[in-house]
Amino acid sequence: MKIIFISSEVVPFAKTGGLADVAGSLPKALKGIGHDVRVYLPRYKKIKPEKFLPGSKVPIYFFEHEKYFGSREELYQVKGVDYPDNLERFSAFCQSVFPFLKKLGWIPDVIHCNDWQSALVIAYLKVIYKDDLLFKRTAAVYSIHNMGYLGMFPKEKLPLTGLSWDQFKPEALEFWGNIALTKAGFVYADVINTVSETYAQEIQTKEFGHGLDGLLRARSADVFGIVNGIDYDIWNPATDKNIPKRFSPATLSLKIGNKIELQKHNGLPQKKETPVIGLITRLADQKGFDILSGALQGIMDEHCQIVVLGVGDKKYHDLLLKMKRNYPDHIGVNLSFDASLAELIYAGADMFMMPSRYEPCGLGQLISFKYGTIPVVRKTGGLADTVHDFNSRTGEGEGFVFEEYSSRALLAAVKRAIETFHKKTLWKPLQEKIMQLDYSWDASAKKYVSLYMKALGKIGIAAL
Ligand code: ADP
Repeated sequence: MKIIFISSEVVPFAKTGGLADVAGSLPKALKGIGHDVRVYLPRYKKIKPEKFLPGSKVPIYFFEHEKYFGSREELYQVKGVDYPDNLERFSAFCQSVFPFLKKLGWIPDVIHCNDWQSALVIAYLKVIYKDDLLFKRTAAVYSIHNMGYLGMFPKEKLPLTGLSWDQFKPEALEFWGNIALTKAGFVYADVINTVSETYAQEIQTKEFGHGLDGLLRARSADVFGIVNGIDYDIWNPATDKNIPKRFSPATLSLKIGNKIELQKHNGLPQKKETPVIGLITRLADQKGFDILSGALQGIMDEHCQIVVLGVGDKKYHDLLLKMKRNYPDHIGVNLSFDASLAELIYAGADMFMMPSRYEPCGLGQLISFKYGTIPVVRKTGGLADTVHDFNSRTGEGEGFVFEEYSSRALLAAVKRAIETFHKKTLWKPLQEKIMQLDYSWDASAKKYVSLYMKALGKIGIAAL
């Protein structure tokens, strides 16, 4: 099968979140099971182009545009403020796809777009290229990695997408008097996908649907969920070159060396018996900082340390800096995007906290598993699918889970985790167990192939 995977971020070239991880690894896994998959991405300023996705034979193509991408330091925004021409930028990116494919002389069976930045490609396929014989046998799959980002713009900008005003209606791109580019995917894709089964259900509800739940309910038969994998070529404590002490389930005792380094790096007392809770996240409302700030005093009373790595909203930067001033011996605050520090945190922390309000899939808990770092999570989206509450009697479960979105419930879960941490006969087997869970992309890639077949089925192609 020929698949073009279109994404605004791809590891290791450009990343702000989980989409980049997916785009950097799913294509490799698809290639591994014999498919001709290729990746398409804008060339931002810092990117040095390569011919293949590193570590693979997956061809990668860069859309070059000096004004819109080549001169931009960041992907979408600077210091929390969006670039004012994001619609123009990503319309140009999407418009370039079809002329590019024609020039390449390579017509895909499936176009797989991701999030609002590439959603317009699907509208172009189904509206502008509808009668183009070259693309008659090409199906479209739209994956949503986070419903919180709709790609909303004022309606006056619609003509800049290259679509006509007849797309300004609720059954197309209109969204409460504005336009939402994500709708180009939701309305026109042959199948819609998101990154966990629970989230696929949640986005069809008012609470998580961000105003599009009605549309998604109407397309319910075409909405699927496939949990992300992670790339164990990158995330593996036995081979990770960025951590001071490599370890595996058989050499778990070496993990402590990373913890000591992590404490040192954060100016925290270097104590083996003090549990360290890691947090690596975009500092956004979605990620649960409001309940965390309410629980913090209580967590500190438990004699533990917290190490945070993140960038995002200014209010959370301020909040974290204030916490650091109040609890200098208990909290490490790193307000940056730092891939190697992230690895040190995954490797050195005892627990990893994700108190998310909502979480489409979540990669942090899957990476934590591999590093023997026990997740403490809220039961939502992909977190609910991958982490079940630890039962000290039966040994079942993979972490500590709370359901109610409140500081109280979060604190109770942290307390249970810390209590268990001090019982080594429970903690160590739990670590060994989660390190051996298999969240590699292989299983998920096969599910994507079935999804692509469903999409082809929708345009009347039964088999390839
Ligand atoms: P989201 O896509 O909502 O940001 P995910 O959990 O799906 O959340 O993916 C986040 C990914 O980004 C993880 O791989 C995480 O380690 C990484 N990450 C987030 N913030 C940072 C940061 N400040 N520095 C380094 N890596 C980060």
